[in-house]
Amino acid sequence: MKNVYPSYYDKFRCIANLCTDSCCKDWDVVVDSETEKYYNSVNNSLGEKIRRLTVTDADGDRIFVSQNGRCPFWNSDMLCDIYIGLGEDHLCKTCASFPRITAEFSDFAEHFLSFACPEAARLILAEDNAYRSFENSRYRLNSEDYDTSLMEILLRARSENAKILNDRSAAMAQRLGDCLIYNARLQNVLNGDEPGEFVCPSKQISPDFIFGFFKKLDYMHDDVPKIIKAAESAANRSITADFDDEFEKLALYNLYRYYLNAIDSMDVLNVIRRIVCEFIILKLALAAKPELDLTDAMQKYSKEIEHSYENSEEIEFEFMTNPSFSAENLFALLK
Ligand code: SF4
Repeated sequence: MKNVYPSYYDKFRCIANLCTDSCCKDWDVVVDSETEKYYNSVNNSLGEKIRRLTVTDADGDRIFVSQNGRCPFWNSDMLCDIYIGLGEDHLCKTCASFPRITAEFSDFAEHFLSFACPEAARLILAEDNAYRSFENSRYRLNSEDYDTSLMEILLRARSENAKILNDRSAAMAQRLGDCLIYNARLQNVLNGDEPGEFVCPSKQISPDFIFGFFKKLDYMHDDVPKIIKAAESAANRSITADFDDEFEKLALYNLYRYYLNAIDSMDVLNVIRRIVCEFIILKLALAAKPELDLTDAMQKYSKEIEHSYENSEEIEFEFMTNPSFSAENLFALLK
């Protein structure tokens, strides 16, 4: 199997107690059975504590019981008691791998760092041309697990989108508008229709429908709701080209990370819709609050929205059922 990695991948080192957020809070840690078997053999007070605080959740997964939204082994020095007591080799797979993420497609595997980790977010935003190895790789597709001719189309389409997003001669708003047109037409073809004309609405559109929907999602903290509120207060401002390089890297991260999911969903538009909504919310929030820490805002958005299964489901459903989120309306908001 061919494996490809973005250029920032190997640079990652967890910064532990220097982290501005932490994967040791807000999330349940799922413990794999092999590691739990080892923990059951640890004959000391830490082993007893691990056994006492490992329970079965509603999905049948074995997890550490969180205490006040924190992993019970994350100590007051913001360090991990299991790492200290048993060593790095005995972390469960969840803790040992995060923020490394693998998307496997039988014939090939693509590896990423998650934007929800602050250190990974910093690395992703620091790197130009991070996905060149994805473009230089030729995957030999033989799998019977999916439609290989559709995968060929998606790989070519992803490269086309990447070319558009990498074109710094245009502002990011224009590049995203071009991606909407490209994918709306491709979606028509995937649906068995002609590509068709892309007709932008002639009347002015307000982004309020975006804020109204995203405000209603489920949040663990108030950082993202505050960002949306700030964006709402700047709803009638125009989108500038400030921080376009950072938005380009965020868009490319989302494109490479999610575009090939269309092999199952047959939907190439939703990932672009998600990128555009995040772009509009964060750009307008910056217009209202220029002092906003953009890397921090992008990382929090990723943790609360991209990495929430429930929020992601809600978004997919809304995009499919609410015509306000049409490619044409989103295009009009970028003008
Ligand atoms: S979020 Fe990233 S940097 Fe922070 S503690 Fe977790 S892995 Fe380390």
